[in-house]
Amino acid sequence: MLGLSARGYVIQGDARWPDGTVTFELQLGAPVSPLIDGSTSWDAVAQQALDIWNAQIGRLRLAGNAGSTASLAQRNSRNNVFFADDAFGREFGDRTLAITFSSWSGTRRVEADIVFNRASNWNSYRGALRFSGGRAVADLRRVALHEFGHALGLDHPDDSGQSVAAIMNAVTSNLDTLATDDIAGVQAMYGARAAVSGGARLTNLSVRSRAGSGSQTLIAGFVIAHGEKQLLMRGIGPTLAEYQVSGALPDPRLTLYRAEGGGSTQIATNDNWGGGSSLAAAFAAVGAFALPANSTDAALRSTFGASPYSLHLTEAQGRSGIGLIEIYAAGPASEAGQLVNLSARTQVGSGHDILIAGFVVGGSGTARLLIRGVGPTLADLGVPGLLADPELRVYRASDVIASNNDWGTDAGPLTAAASTAGAFALRSGSRDAALLVEVPPGNYSVHVSGVGGTTGVALVELYLLP
Ligand SMILES: [Zn+2]
Repeated sequence: MLGLSARGYVIQGDARWPDGTVTFELQLGAPVSPLIDGSTSWDAVAQQALDIWNAQIGRLRLAGNAGSTASLAQRNSRNNVFFADDAFGREFGDRTLAITFSSWSGTRRVEADIVFNRASNWNSYRGALRFSGGRAVADLRRVALHEFGHALGLDHPDDSGQSVAAIMNAVTSNLDTLATDDIAGVQAMYGARAAVSGGARLTNLSVRSRAGSGSQTLIAGFVIAHGEKQLLMRGIGPTLAEYQVSGALPDPRLTLYRAEGGGSTQIATNDNWGGGSSLAAAFAAVGAFALPANSTDAALRSTFGASPYSLHLTEAQGRSGIGLIEIYAAGPASEAGQLVNLSARTQVGSGHDILIAGFVVGGSGTARLLIRGVGPTLADLGVPGLLADPELRVYRASDVIASNNDWGTDAGPLTAAASTAGAFALRSGSRDAALLVEVPPGNYSVHVSGVGGTTGVALVELYLLP
């Protein structure tokens, strides 16, 4: 979930698979030599793509029948997945990597056959797209993820001129796994997989940064998964003066958008919170500091469904200053919905102007979190003025409990965690920062700064892992 684009997934028509298991006949065979990621079976690579979807889907399980010898035909009630020189007699064309043929009956999806273009230069690898002899090396896993997405009923978000990070975009990119938007799309059709982590939950998220209007808008993204959740959100400016913050936003305004199929919808906005006793009681109930009744700080409270959201903090008269966004879980602990992701993108300065995101883990047990400070990889998304070398520090109270400067390369648990969480892939060997922590309930903060006091635009992201 980024504030980069408040748009979203596209669903093809009404046809869905009925609840239960859908089996794909994996008939891709073995490569002549081991693939870049070490795989020795194309079917095993396709199975990984099925498992990545399975990690997100509630009412449906995608099974793979590796080494299948099912007859290759449309409308034979078998979901064939295979390489061929043409797509059931139709020319692929030079640039087509694969085609999914879906059939349905009324609102029931009944068959999906996926044909991969044998003439493409196939392999399997993670991270940025690779090229060989001026030609892209097609990564079977990411293309299979895309085609299985079509088989499930998703279409291309970029076909209608949208720009959103998604494996479902028509053009393959450095994104090598599901993005938040893909997950939101599939969960809109089939529900979310139930949370499997213990009782630990994210109960509060906050970010403090310089904010203004237009390109200076401070945008926090968050994702609610598994059901509905009541949230209290605040956009604080003037009351920060009571906490020795100078140059605060004079009149903050909050606007909340929900990502929806094909676009985003403004669902709530507030300029001045108004001093109401019910909101004041809600602040106290979640442990938030009180606001003067006549302050120009902003607040919103409501129950929201499972979806990605973005919360924009601007200034009512276009001025700029330091602003604080806070998001609190405000409903009972028994609520099905969970906050699973927070992100904020902003200009990172030095000294007091570094990017600081706070979070609270509530409940019991421990929370496994993937935390990232992204600068260089934002270039893939066309963001200018990047922070070239971000550094991450995670604090519990005033103790540093984890830190990272450069995240590393593809192999290893960070890449697997990003894949599970639906986070976009970092460029292998880039100067982006990322780390994994497993923490008990408590108050934490994440500091993102530039190595050597450098400044620029960066994204901080926090994912609750299952
Ligand atoms: Zn496609």
